[in-house]
Amino acid sequence: AAKSRGRNQFGYFMPSMQRAAQNKMRTVNDLRAALARNQLRVLYQPIVELSSGRIRKAEALLRWEHPQRGAVSPAEFIPLAEESGLIVAIGDWVFQQAFHQAMRWRASIDPQFQISVNMSPAQFRRQWSATGPPPLPHKRSHPLLGRYSGSEIVLEITEGMLMESTHSIREQLLAFRESGIQMSLDDFGTGYSSLSYLKKFHIDYLKIDQSFVLKMVAGSDDLALCEAIVVMGHKLGIKVIAEGVETQEQRELLTGAGCDFGQGYLFARPLTAPQFDRLLRRRDRGR
Ligand code: C2E
Ligand code: MG
Ligand code: MG
Ligand code: MG
Repeated sequence: AAKSRGRNQFGYFMPSMQRAAQNKMRTVNDLRAALARNQLRVLYQPIVELSSGRIRKAEALLRWEHPQRGAVSPAEFIPLAEESGLIVAIGDWVFQQAFHQAMRWRASIDPQFQISVNMSPAQFRRQWSATGPPPLPHKRSHPLLGRYSGSEIVLEITEGMLMESTHSIREQLLAFRESGIQMSLDDFGTGYSSLSYLKKFHIDYLKIDQSFVLKMVAGSDDLALCEAIVVMGHKLGIKVIAEGVETQEQRELLTGAGCDFGQGYLFARPLTAPQFDRLLRRRDRGR
């Protein structure tokens, strides 16, 4: 008892910075255990083709079902996972889940169905250790994925990854591009990309950041920006996806602007795979 009181007193007097560091370490350990104990989940949010209203794609979004804290937001734990290097193992796991789910939906819904996966810079960095495994499962490195063609999964990267990353990460991204893997530029408009990167990396999709879409109404500057992004994207042969579509008005404005796809609570929240299947069946019956 004396011992544990001693520890508590230490905790009480510990400077707040040290306490914060300790909390962080605990969270990283919890996260490592979560990966091993199957407490991570991948949810799938539908991406809808605006011209037809049909679900064509999905974005894989990670969730942590913490035994004490409940569902922990990726905004909270992804930065820690990146800092600790755990993101590499977690990212591989998400990629595997998404790949197998994409194969299932290709077989049951649509042979062109794609799932996009958010990527962290560290997942590209490690390729360059000469002895390490390649950063992503693909045909040559992974016997399970013999049928992987490169279009089942779209890698979501951010402007920051193009602009701030080292030469080797950029080389790695280009190498992926050349092997046929598709890429989507996430949160477009919030970073400070040089537009020349759009050309250099032959991006397949631009995702307009939700901050432009959430408040968008007729006649707004946000709408003007969305329209301009769509025109620019199309001139470069890039398809455009709007994130954060919450209202019917936004959907109509985006459709009018020629935006290709929409994603947001208007269509659906991120769903478990069985929920996603039910949604598709309901839609099929309604058509
Ligand atoms: P993101 O890639 O920009 O994902 C879109 C976020 O917007 C998701 O938040 C999604 O749930 C949310 N969202 C979708 N529709 C709407 C809407 O209509 N209104 C509003 N207000 N929000 C909407 P979520 O799932 O909390 O993920 C947050 C971020 O965490 C993601 O932003 C992504 O950057 C990161 N993330 C998620 N999963 C992974 C992962 O597997 N790996 C990595 N590296 N990052 C991930
Ligand atoms: Mg994303
Ligand atoms: Mg985004
Ligand atoms: Mg975002």
